[in-house]
Amino acid sequence: MERVNPATGEALDPIEADDEAAVEAALATADEAFESWRDVPLAEREELLASAADVLRENEAEYAELMTAEMGKPLAAARSEVQKCAWVCDYYAEHAGEHLQDERVGAEPGVDSFVAYEPLGPILAVMPWNFPFWQVFRFAAPHLTSGNVGLLKHASNVPGCAEAIEEVFREAGYPEGVFQTLLVGSDAVDGIVEDDRLKAVTLTGSEYAGRAVAETAGAELKKTVLELGGSDPFVVLDDADVAAAAATGARARTINSGQSCIAAKRFIVHEDVSDEFVEAFVAEMEALDVGDPHEDVDLGPQARADLMEDLHEQVERSVEAGATVELGGEPLDRDGFFYPPTVLTDVPRDAAVAEEEVFGPVAPIFEVADETEAIALANDTDLGLGGSVWTEDRERGTRLAREIESGAVFVNELTKSDPRLPFGGIGDSGYGRELGKMGIHEFVNRKTVWVQ
Ligand code: NDP
Repeated sequence: MERVNPATGEALDPIEADDEAAVEAALATADEAFESWRDVPLAEREELLASAADVLRENEAEYAELMTAEMGKPLAAARSEVQKCAWVCDYYAEHAGEHLQDERVGAEPGVDSFVAYEPLGPILAVMPWNFPFWQVFRFAAPHLTSGNVGLLKHASNVPGCAEAIEEVFREAGYPEGVFQTLLVGSDAVDGIVEDDRLKAVTLTGSEYAGRAVAETAGAELKKTVLELGGSDPFVVLDDADVAAAAATGARARTINSGQSCIAAKRFIVHEDVSDEFVEAFVAEMEALDVGDPHEDVDLGPQARADLMEDLHEQVERSVEAGATVELGGEPLDRDGFFYPPTVLTDVPRDAAVAEEEVFGPVAPIFEVADETEAIALANDTDLGLGGSVWTEDRERGTRLAREIESGAVFVNELTKSDPRLPFGGIGDSGYGRELGKMGIHEFVNRKTVWVQ
């Protein structure tokens, strides 16, 4: 599998892909491993997960370096990502038992009726490159602990991360076959989903990939969870703390060099505070350092050349349609795939940056006359992942949070994922939930038991 360092454009050593025989062997191993793993007491599975957290912490620097080399994330952010993975392991090591214990329903006197949560079997995780460790641990921590076994098909540009993650579970002491990495391209996914031994699939990535996998899984009647793109609104109302909104907004747009599904993607600002917000926001974006991800920078390169080209094309099409460039707007003139923080105003409502997911540090700002128009514009998308509302009035913020059509809304804070809270979208952002109690319940048989 070819790898390119996005900070230099230079090739890294390729990693040998798995052939069909290796995939077949992995499926057989997973199937066999499930038969004994499902019977391992939950407390032991929790202990192993706690050990995985230890392995992550011990090797934080090594894993962070790997992410930075393969997809260009600044090293400090990569280290935080490893810590967050350890956190999700800690969380389920502590709470899986409570989330999976039988739920007594008490349907009728004299009858013991309850819901039991039982694992399904081998589950395929098709994962993206943007948070190459976090996306995988967010899947693996709950679903291995509930007694399933995992097969990872990671994005083709981060095979080193994929191998390292398998190593985490091996080092933590997991039995063979409970978590395996398949080094294959996306063309191998259909065959794996169609295999009878595979019971379910989860995908995080583009809408296109989500639809493809859901179609195959649907034909097989296999459960899917899809976490796809977002076009999250960041709504700044007339009574907002504008300075705070601008500072957090810049972070929310540029987190992971702008390559996050829950990044703020459309800035919707009340006209009474619009000038003040644009000025403060441009200053915040301008102050961000872009450069070598091994240095102390805010943004590294975009992960691949094609992704940066697509991003720039979205900006060009939007400018042609009438948008004004307040900041940035051209790839940096240096090796690697660097795109600067970019701010666009006067953006037509049907411009590319308004209608398509923008996976990079480009922020379109839209001015609105009132709250009603703000909500209408926030909801004027087929995507519905997260959203952020800024107001000094918490009741107003709560009311607006209910009116925004998405899987999450944060008031006076950026949208973020947290092991304790469910995470996922509606509409074209996908379905199902990860994390929290709801997340661990996605891939279990919720079995009704009635004892007369
Ligand atoms: P993809 O959706 O193509 O990649 C995500 C994962 O899906 C990868 O493992 C990929 O494999 C796999 N995949 C792709 N196509 C198929 C398919 N037909 N069947 C099965 N698996 C498939 O994302 P890209 O890397 O191409 O990024 C493109 C855009 O997707 C971004 O600009 C962004 O808008 C969105 N995206 C959203 C993410 C999110 O967090 N929601 C994460 C990443 C991207 P392989 O790498 O081998 O192609």
